Amino acid sequence: MSFEVRKLGIMGGTFDPIHYGHLVTAEAVRTEFDLDQVVFVPSGLPPHKDPATITPPQHRYLMAVLATLTNPHFEVSRVDIDRPGVTYTVDTLADLRREYGPEVEFYFITGADALAEIFSWKNAEELVRECTFVGATRPGFTLEHLSPEVEEFYHRNAASFRFIEVPALAISSTDLRRRIREGRSLRYLTPEEVVFYIKKNGLYRKTGENGPEEGGTA
Ligand code: NAP
Repeated sequence: MSFEVRKLGIMGGTFDPIHYGHLVTAEAVRTEFDLDQVVFVPSGLPPHKDPATITPPQHRYLMAVLATLTNPHFEVSRVDIDRPGVTYTVDTLADLRREYGPEVEFYFITGADALAEIFSWKNAEELVRECTFVGATRPGFTLEHLSPEVEEFYHRNAASFRFIEVPALAISSTDLRRRIREGRSLRYLTPEEVVFYIKKNGLYRKTGENGPEEGGTA
């Protein structure tokens, strides 16, 4: 099914692996901001991560495709995994701008933790002019612990930031990876198709393989 897209949500993340917290976030932001479509964009190589600690992009991409299959408003894009080198959001937005055209309004959706570092991202000042950033917060998240530098950046660009609390983000990729290593169930934390895919491909079984250690950034 295709829609005329005037307002596009861009779900940026590593999705290692994707889970219901991500899906609920995307749907909540879509309805809250009246978005026509949300495109999930799995990162190729995030700037702050060791490639050896994340699952190969093709697996993360395919799990995102399986997880989003039944929502006609969700798509998955390969732009970040097909672009060689480190993934910078400025390049993600440029690629999607070429694809969707100059008139479409962009909403970049990601974890509020990740957004707290945006002042240090490549071309940060350009990014906040190009789109609205929506930070999804886990229950209990506050902006109080932000450094003065980050607070100043947020206040100066306040019109470009929104935050939305998503209780379903009590689910985390870190917890899913830990559960797999410990042989515990993933049922009701991510779609069954993703659980089957993980099992079939033997992902996340060993500590330090196919995912950061506990206490890592995911
Ligand atoms: P991350 O450090 O892996 O994640 C930070 C936190 O945000 C984690 O708690 C994570 O939970 C959560 N999270 C990540 N994506 C989410 C989403 N779409 N919705 C809800 N929660 C989310 O962050 P990352 O995945 O590397 O980066 C997030 C996005 O920011 C990516 O698109 C990345 O390319 C972009 N980014 C760009 C730059 C740059 O341009 N310099 C730098 C850093 C990040 P889970 O582990 O459960 O997902």
